[in-house]
Amino acid sequence: MAKMQVFGHKNPDTDTVASALAAADLLAQQGLATEAVAQGKPNQETAYALDYFDLQPLPVIDRASSDEVVLVDHNEAAQSVDNLADVTVYGIYDHHKFSFQNATPLYITAKPWGSVATILYYEYQQQQLTIPAKIAGMLASGLISDTLLLKSPTTTDYDRQALPALAKMAGIDDIEAYGLAMLKAGTDLSNRSIEDLLEGDAKSFTMGGHEFRIGQVNTVDIDDVLTRKDELEAGMKAAGYEDFLLIITDILHSNSKGLYLGDAPETVAAAFGQQLTDGIINLPGVVSRKKQVVPPLEKAF
Ligand code: ZN
Ligand code: ZN
Repeated sequence: MAKMQVFGHKNPDTDTVASALAAADLLAQQGLATEAVAQGKPNQETAYALDYFDLQPLPVIDRASSDEVVLVDHNEAAQSVDNLADVTVYGIYDHHKFSFQNATPLYITAKPWGSVATILYYEYQQQQLTIPAKIAGMLASGLISDTLLLKSPTTTDYDRQALPALAKMAGIDDIEAYGLAMLKAGTDLSNRSIEDLLEGDAKSFTMGGHEFRIGQVNTVDIDDVLTRKDELEAGMKAAGYEDFLLIITDILHSNSKGLYLGDAPETVAAAFGQQLTDGIINLPGVVSRKKQVVPPLEKAF
C-alpha cells in the first residue's frame, strides 16, 4: 500500500515544509508508513533552510496518491490537493481558522500558536519521542519564518519557549543570526518574476461574496519593490480576481504597505483606517496576514 502522504498548503512556505517533514517523522516513529511531500517547489527562504540542514526538497505533488493523507499548516480545500474530496484525511496539524468538512472521524491537533512547527515540537515532547537534529533545524526555521523571528503578533509564549529548545537540538548556536540570514535569503527579489512576487505566497479568501486574493512578499526595502508597481498592477489585473491585495512587508522594521487592485477601495481603506492613495495603503506595524490583514478585511466586507 502507498505510504500515507503528509503535506502542507499550496505555495509551500517554510512552516509548511518543516511541518510536513516533522509530522511524517513523528507518525513514522509511531509505526505508520508515511511520506512527506509538498504542493510545489521550495521558495528561496525554504531552500536556504533545507540547504543549511543538508536536506533535499520534498517531492512535488498536485494530487494525493495515497488513500489516506495528513494535512499540515492548512485545512481549507482551496489550499489543498485537487483530489482532496476523493481521499480520507487521517489527521490535521494546523494553526489557521477551520473551514473543513469531514466525512469520517479524524485526528485534529490545532492550536492558535505562531507556527505548526511549534505544535509539532510539543507533540514530540508529549509522545516522549526524539526530534532528529535536521528536523529540529527545519522546525526552528518554520517557527522563525511564520513569526518573523518571534516579532509577529501571532507569537505566543509556546513559540518563545520552543525556539531556543529547537535551536539547541539542531546545534545552532546563534539563532538570531541564523534566523536573520534565512529571512534575508527569502527577500532577494531581484531574480523573481512579477507573477512569482504576486503568487509566491498568495491565498484566496471569500469575503462578503468577493473573491479576494491576498499575496505577501517579504523585503528589506518596500520602496524597492514598489519601483515595479506598474508591472505588479498589470499582473494583478491579468490574474483576474475581483480584489487583489499584495502586502509588502519590511521584515527588519515590522511594517507593511499594501498594493490593492479591485472594485472596493473604500472598503479596503476603511478596514485598516488608512488612506488608499494611488492603490497604495500604509499598514504600520502589520506583518501578519492571518492576524492583522484577513480579520479587519472580513469585518469590513
Ligand atoms: Zn504556511
Ligand atoms: Zn504556518
